[in-house]
Amino acid sequence: MKDNNNKGATRVLVVDDEQDIREGSQRIIKRMGCDVSTASRGDTALEILEKEHFGIMLLDLKMPGIDGMEVLRQVKEKYPEILVIIITGFATVETAIEAMKQGAYDFIPKPFEPDHLRIVVGRARERMRLRWEAEAMAKDRERTLTYLHTEKSRIRTIVESLPYGVMVTDSQGRVGLMNPAFLHHFGLPEDAGLGDFIGKYVRDEGFCKLVQDISAGKYAESDSIPGYEMELPDGKFLMARGKPVTGEDGSCLGAAVNIADITGLKELDRVKSEFVAKVSHELRSPLSTIHEQLAMVIKDMVEDSSREDREDHYILSRAKEKTQGMISLIGDLLDLSRIEAGVAFQQAKSISIEDMLKNIADFMQARAKGKKQDLEFEPPSSPLPLFTADPVALESIFGNLVSNAVNYTPEGGSIRVKAECDGENIYVRVEDSGFGIAEKNLEKIFERFYREKNDNTRFITGTGLGLPIVKNLTEELGGSVAVKSQTGKGSCFTVRLPVQKPQE
Ligand code: ADP
Repeated sequence: MKDNNNKGATRVLVVDDEQDIREGSQRIIKRMGCDVSTASRGDTALEILEKEHFGIMLLDLKMPGIDGMEVLRQVKEKYPEILVIIITGFATVETAIEAMKQGAYDFIPKPFEPDHLRIVVGRARERMRLRWEAEAMAKDRERTLTYLHTEKSRIRTIVESLPYGVMVTDSQGRVGLMNPAFLHHFGLPEDAGLGDFIGKYVRDEGFCKLVQDISAGKYAESDSIPGYEMELPDGKFLMARGKPVTGEDGSCLGAAVNIADITGLKELDRVKSEFVAKVSHELRSPLSTIHEQLAMVIKDMVEDSSREDREDHYILSRAKEKTQGMISLIGDLLDLSRIEAGVAFQQAKSISIEDMLKNIADFMQARAKGKKQDLEFEPPSSPLPLFTADPVALESIFGNLVSNAVNYTPEGGSIRVKAECDGENIYVRVEDSGFGIAEKNLEKIFERFYREKNDNTRFITGTGLGLPIVKNLTEELGGSVAVKSQTGKGSCFTVRLPVQKPQE
C-alpha cells in the first residue's frame, strides 16, 4: 500500500473501542482539514487498511479482539509508512517504550484535551510533509542525474560523429578530448590517449602556441581570435579555429578547438588563381592599347581647339579613367598570382628598410599634401639591420600600407611611419588618424576583394587586393602583419619581419 501523497487532505484512521473518543477525535481532526475514518476494533481497522490509504493512524492499545500492540505490529510490517499515534488510558513508561519499539510514531494519554490531540496530529502531519519533500527532492535529483547522463552520452555521440576535428583542453593546455575526426586529421592512433600538452600530439608550433594561448585565457576578452592555417607533411591543409571555454565567473577553463580540412578549398583557390592570372594576362595588353588610344584621342581634341565637343571629351576622359582602374586591378591580380606562385623573391638584395620607408614617404608626400595631411617618417632610435628580400616585394608591402593610410584618412589628418628593431624582428608601423575599421571587419580586410563599405569609404576607389598582397608577401618573408583600429580614431598596421629569414 502506498502512503498518502501530498495532494489533497491527510487521511487519518481513528481506532478506539470507546465511541466518545472515536467521535470526539474525528470531529477535532476533521476541523484540522483532514479526511477521517474510524474503526472500533483492531481487526476492522486492518480490513479498512487493506482497501484504503492512510497517512496517520490513532490507535487505542486496549481493545476487545486483537489488542492495539498486535495491530501496531501488523501495521508496521505491512504499511511501514503510516505514522501510528498510540492512545491509551494506561500511560506507563513501559507501554510507551514497548509501543515505540514496535515502531509507533507518538503517544497520547487518555483522557486528552482537544489541544493536545491537535498538537500531536499536527506534529505527525508536519513529519509527513517533510517526508514528502525529501522524497520529491530525491526523485528530482534522480531525474536530473538520468537527464544529465543521457544528455552527456548524446553530446558525446554528436561530438564523436562530427566531420570536423574537435579538441578540448584545460586551462593548463592539457588535452581532455579529441574526437575521431581530430585524430584522423593529424594521423594519430585511436589510442593516442589524453592528458598531455598538445605539443605531444601535434608538431605544428604555431598551432600549439595558439592552443596554449587560448587555454591560458589570452583571448578570454577578445571577439576576434585569429584562425590558424597549417600544411601537414602529407600535403593536407587544415584550418584551426579556437575559443576559450569560460566558467560561470568568466574565468577561462580551457580551449575548444575545431579543425576543418581545407585541402579541397586550397586546390580550388589555386585553380581560381591560375584562371584569374590567365584572364588578367590576356586582358592587360588590349586594355593598355585602349587606354593609350583614348589618351591620344583626348590629346588631339585638346590640341584641336576648333572642335567644340566638350561632352565627347568628358565621356572619353571618364572611359580613360575607368580603363586606368581596370589596368591597376589587373596589375594587382597579376602581383597576387606571382606572389602565390612564390616567384616574388627571385631578385633578393640587402636592403635598408629605413631608406626605403623614407623614399616611400617622400613619394607619397604629394598625395598627402593634396589632402592637407601631415605625413612623416620617424627614423628609428638606432639603425636597423639590413634586410634581405626582393625590393619590389618590400616596396609593395610598405607602399600599399602608406597609400591606404593616405586614402582612408580625411583631409587634415596625420600619418606616421615608424620602424624599430628588437634584435629578432624589425617592426614597421603605419599609423593614421583616419576613419578606422570596425572591429568585426579587422580579419576580413585581409581577404581578397574585401572593401569596407560605409559613408566614408564610398567614394574612395580601390581593388580590395592591397592588404592581401601585403599579407602574402609578409608571410612569405617569414613575418606577419597585424592591425589595431578604432572607428573614427584611426588605424595602426604593424609589419613584423624576422631579422633572420627562415632557412628556406
Ligand atoms: P583597397 O584599399 O584597394 O580597397 P585593401 O586590401 O588595401 O584594398 O584594403 C581593404 C579595405 O580595408 C579597404 O577597402 C578599407 O576599407 C580598409 N582599410 C585598409 N587600410 C585602411 C586604413 N588605413 N584605414 C581604414 N581602413 C582601411
